[in-house]
Amino acid sequence: MRLSTIKLSGFKSFVDPTTLHLPTNLTGIVGPNGCGKSNIIDAIRWVMGESAASRLRGDSLTDVIFSGSNARKPVGTATVELVFDNSDGSIVGEYANFAEISVKRSVSRDGSSSYFLNGTRCRRRDITDLFLGTGLGPRSYAIIEQGMISEIVEAAPEQLRVHLEEAAGISKYKERRRETENR
Ligand code: ATP
Ligand code: MG
Repeated sequence: MRLSTIKLSGFKSFVDPTTLHLPTNLTGIVGPNGCGKSNIIDAIRWVMGESAASRLRGDSLTDVIFSGSNARKPVGTATVELVFDNSDGSIVGEYANFAEISVKRSVSRDGSSSYFLNGTRCRRRDITDLFLGTGLGPRSYAIIEQGMISEIVEAAPEQLRVHLEEAAGISKYKERRRETENR
């Protein structure tokens, strides 16, 4: 599975609809300070269900909405869509037969957030469930940010284990067991 396209609109500095194609397995994002490189990473993490504003470098969840600039008025909604190429079939279950999987999230100023899977409205959980065990959750090792390397080097064994379990694909089953036990 590979992230092939990112579409942003009203998200942080990406006020106008913007489509980024990631044609190969290795993509570098380069540009001057403040041009929006980290905002792209925030966007990916946000769609995957990140719910802590601090992890998106903001104070509240509506801080991801374009807040205006000297030349532009603020907008009311932020939307980001990720398109995954699933032609290798690494997504299993209900979506296994889709060659492409689209995951979209939008939020408006009143704080209401909605999620969509291949265009159909869904819960946040449906998205986190789908990617659990693929290494692609909002806090998984697929995104290594500044500070995370030292965090991993210095991690306690229990914390390291979380990453290993995600890599081995068993975190999904642990999550299911936890849910069953709590029922
Ligand atoms: P650096 O090289 O310094 O890490 P960067 O390319 O990663 O820079 P970002 O942090 O992605 O830059 O982008 C920062 C820019 O995004 C700032 O100009 C900031 O004003 C703008 N920005 C962030 N949130 C919003 C928002 N909600 N509305 C409008 N602009 C925003
Ligand atoms: Mg940055």
